[in-house]
Amino acid sequence: MNRLKAVIFDFDGTLVQLRPGAGQMDELRSRLGGLIAEVGIQSTLRPFYPEIDRVLEQLRQRGDARGLELRSRAIALIEQLELEFSRASEPCPHAAVTWRAVASRFPCGISSSNTRSSILESLVRHGIWAPGDARPLVAFEDVDRHKPDPAPLVKLAGILGLGAGDVAVHVGDHVNDLEACRKLNEKGGVRLLPVMVQGGKCRWEDIVAHPGFSPSRGIADLAELLPILEVEAR
Ligand SMILES: [Mg+2]
Repeated sequence: MNRLKAVIFDFDGTLVQLRPGAGQMDELRSRLGGLIAEVGIQSTLRPFYPEIDRVLEQLRQRGDARGLELRSRAIALIEQLELEFSRASEPCPHAAVTWRAVASRFPCGISSSNTRSSILESLVRHGIWAPGDARPLVAFEDVDRHKPDPAPLVKLAGILGLGAGDVAVHVGDHVNDLEACRKLNEKGGVRLLPVMVQGGKCRWEDIVAHPGFSPSRGIADLAELLPILEVEAR
């Protein structure tokens, strides 16, 4: 019997390393900060995702054309900068061969806080997905709250057809992945087992310190993933 129903991958730091140039994240924060200041919203946009979620929700709640226009411009700005990051991106070691091997064995999807166009551009650029591949993907635009909120995982679990009691693996590189899994597991429906890959966008000591981390599911790179999945599938 196959106990493991699906494998959910994070994107940045797990399959691909987006590479913002020097000062580009500061530039993104500064330009977004300028946009929202037009309607009197202040934010340092740190930490980025919880703050951008809060700001976009504030713009939506204004309920007027100005708020919606600024919301669209903010998302377009994130998309534009992330496309630049993706053009300088690098694949994580063994990403393409691992994706293909895992996807031939298990239903697979990607849950990412990045915008759809930069994800697709990077995956195709590095041969992880073929052009036109339409695998399950939840990107920035698809949810209102991003990891560490579990909303993207809830959405992807639904797309993958996972139900209460089903077990899936989540492959990630960041404490936000561990935290999103923990919050989803607390709901008591689908159960996600986090597998953490070294070398991503988070200090390893922070990952190891998270209560959701299991040393038996910490891997040096993606070449070590399939054997873990085979064990979990038994
Ligand atoms: Mg990541």
